[in-house]
Amino acid sequence: MTATPPLTTPIDCETAVRRLWDYIDGALAEHAAVEVATHLAACAKCPPHFAFARSFLLAVGRTATIAPHGAATRERVLRALEAEGFSRAG
Ligand SMILES: [Zn+2]
Repeated sequence: MTATPPLTTPIDCETAVRRLWDYIDGALAEHAAVEVATHLAACAKCPPHFAFARSFLLAVGRTATIAPHGAATRERVLRALEAEGFSRAG
């Protein structure tokens, strides 16, 4: 009678947002990415963040080369997002 344990566990908005960049980079482990995707499907608040971040990176990518693991670039992007009020949105 034991139910098969789910491969993924529900995550909250904070966890989803924390994984945002790695998710977009495709750097998450598969189960972690599925958890994020599952959360996005059920959450009304997070998808706009992810869509904005993705389009932001695409826009940045048109004018500059992003090193895949460039911490400086990531920090610059995060600061820009903060300037856009990203951190206040939660
Ligand atoms: Zn959420």
